[in-house]
Amino acid sequence: MPRARLPTPTAEPQRTPMKLLQLRSATCLLDYAGQRLLVDPMLAAPGAMPGFKLLGGGRRRNPLVPLPAGTDAALASATAVLLTHEHPDHFDAAGRAFARGRGLPVHATAVDAPHLRAKGLDARVVEGGSLGFPAEVIRARHAHGPLGYFLGPVAGYYLAAPGEPTVYVVGDAVLVDAVREAVERLAPEIIVAPAGSANVGFGGDILFSPHELETLVRLAPGRVVLNHLEALDHCPTTRDQLRARMTAAGLMSKVFIPEDGEQLEFTTNAERQAQPREDAPITRPGIQKWMTAPFSGA
Ligand SMILES: [Zn+2]
Repeated sequence: MPRARLPTPTAEPQRTPMKLLQLRSATCLLDYAGQRLLVDPMLAAPGAMPGFKLLGGGRRRNPLVPLPAGTDAALASATAVLLTHEHPDHFDAAGRAFARGRGLPVHATAVDAPHLRAKGLDARVVEGGSLGFPAEVIRARHAHGPLGYFLGPVAGYYLAAPGEPTVYVVGDAVLVDAVREAVERLAPEIIVAPAGSANVGFGGDILFSPHELETLVRLAPGRVVLNHLEALDHCPTTRDQLRARMTAAGLMSKVFIPEDGEQLEFTTNAERQAQPREDAPITRPGIQKWMTAPFSGA
């Protein structure tokens, strides 16, 4: 795999802190490069959506918990939505209504953008400098084996604004080669990864298992923010369990496990930023992603 060429900076960019406000599950607000990117907004009231745990017990209506205090003010400051994939725990009816009502651009992959436009959203495909700074779409898989196909194409984003920490928002994924390759090639200073080790009762984990999370943290050159926790019926891993595991592995110094409503702040230490690959593959829509549409409460 060719390595990205690292550019020589021609001028020292101004370094600004990046802020990540954890709201709930995968939903967070990224204060990045002068924008406030609302990542994967699931804004429903508790119990507004069906359970996602289909077999094996433990099914409850979602979300399990409310949004934290201060959410309204955070949402009011959002300037755009950044969507990893169109599953209902990442963009629900309430999230869509919010984005539509505010007229916010919804930055999404080529898979999701046409469908989002059909829902009246101002969807824009993330490519090249479309976010206003260099970014790359990084494809992943939502599960190992056949379930990964049926859960549809998913992706994450590498963000590399000058003067900001480089960030890899992984989106829903298991530890596949594409994720490892992205971490090695791009050396993101911050990785945001889903940690609830979700399962629907068959087909294995549909997010990183605790063992895979440990591997991801070991691979990470910088810090790892773990979210997508304690908000959905099919996500059994708790923050306490993760803290215990990362502490036992000697990795807790690299890890943040924010509470809902907690804000983290990061300043770049990198002398150089790996630049996005210009030939990053464009994902085309598949039919299988719509299997999850009935859960969205649209
Ligand atoms: Zn999810």
